[in-house]
Amino acid sequence: MENVYDVIILGAGPAGLAAGLYAGRSRLKALIIEKSQDGGQIAITNEIENYPGQIVDEEESGPSLIARMTKQAEKFGCERVSDTIESVELEGEIKKLVGKKGEYFAKAVILATGAHSRPIGCKNEAEFVGKGISFCATCDANFFTDLEVYVVGGGDSAVEEAMFLTNFARKVTIIHRRDELRAAKSIQEKAFANPKLDFMWDSVVEEVGGDEGVLAKMWVRNVKTDEITEIEADEDDGLFGLFGFIGFLPNTDLFEGQVEMERGYVLTDDDMHTNIPGVFAAGDLRKKSLRQVVTAAADGAIAATQVYKFLEE
Ligand code: NAP
Repeated sequence: MENVYDVIILGAGPAGLAAGLYAGRSRLKALIIEKSQDGGQIAITNEIENYPGQIVDEEESGPSLIARMTKQAEKFGCERVSDTIESVELEGEIKKLVGKKGEYFAKAVILATGAHSRPIGCKNEAEFVGKGISFCATCDANFFTDLEVYVVGGGDSAVEEAMFLTNFARKVTIIHRRDELRAAKSIQEKAFANPKLDFMWDSVVEEVGGDEGVLAKMWVRNVKTDEITEIEADEDDGLFGLFGFIGFLPNTDLFEGQVEMERGYVLTDDDMHTNIPGVFAAGDLRKKSLRQVVTAAADGAIAATQVYKFLEE
C-alpha cells in the first residue's frame, strides 16, 4: 500500500489546524487536507472578539488569527495537501480518502469539515448569489461602497457583519424575523449606537428579483401583519446588497451512511470518538452546544490526543 499516515485531518479550520498542531507535537505522521483556503468560516469573519488572546482593538481579524494557526501547525511538521475529497471509506484498520487529485490512506482520521452558511430561503435566491446576494461581508463589502445593503439575521454574526458593512455602504438595514436581537448585549449596544444602521423587525425576505441579472428588488413580509413591503434599488444605484447571516449547516454529506449523525451533525463522545474506531470528529460539524473558534480548537486538541492514544493501544 502507498504512503499510510498515522492520521489524516480533513479540513483546515480552527479544529483541523489545532488537531494538526497537537498531532505534529506528538510526532505523529499527520496530513491536513483542505479543498480551499484555511480557516473555514473564520477566514471570512472580520471581527473575532471572543477568542482568548485575540484583541480586536489591535486590528486582529479572522484571517490574521488563522494565518498564525496554519504557521504553527506547519512548524510542528504537519504535512499539507490541497484537494477536494469526494469519497471516504472509514471502516477497517486503514481508512481511505479519495480526492480529485489522489488517494490518501491513514490509520486514523479526524473529520473537521466544519459548516457553511444557511441560505436565506427566499424565492429566486440561487439566481442572485454573487449578483447582489452574499454570505461574506469581508469578501464582498467593497462591492457595495456607497450603496444600500440589507442584512438578514439577528445573531452575533448578522449584527457584527452589519456594523462592518456600515464602513462601506451608504446605509445598512438589518431584517430580523423577531422584534428582539439574539446577538450578545455588548454587540447590540454598539449596533443601536451606529447611525448608519437601521432595523426592519418581525420581517422575512420572501422573494428577490432584478434586472439584467443583478439584485434590484425584493419583497419583505411582516410576519405579524402579513403586510408585504416591496424594496427597490435606488434608480441611480441600479442594485443593492443582501447579506445572509442566519446560522450554519454542517458539511457532513460525505460521511452519510458511515458515521452516526443527528440532523446532519456528527455524534461523538466527550473525547471526539465517533461510532467508528479510529475516526474522530472535531469542530462545528459535531453535535454540541457551543460552536466557536475556542471550542473548535479545543475539539481538535482533544481529537489529536485521542488519536495518539488509539495508535498506542
Ligand atoms: P445564530 O446565533 O444561530 O443566529 C442566527 C440568527 O438568524 C438568529 O437571529 C435567528 O433568528 C436567525 N435565523 C435563523 N434561521 C432563520 C431563517 N430561516 N430566517 C430568518 N432568520 C433566521 O448564528 P450566528 O449569528 O451565525 O452565530 C453562530 C455562533 O457563532 C453563535 O454561537 C455566536 O455567538 C457565535 N459568533 C460569535 C461572534 C462573536 O462573539 N464575535 C461572532 C459571530 C458568531 P432568531 O433569533 O429568531 O432565532
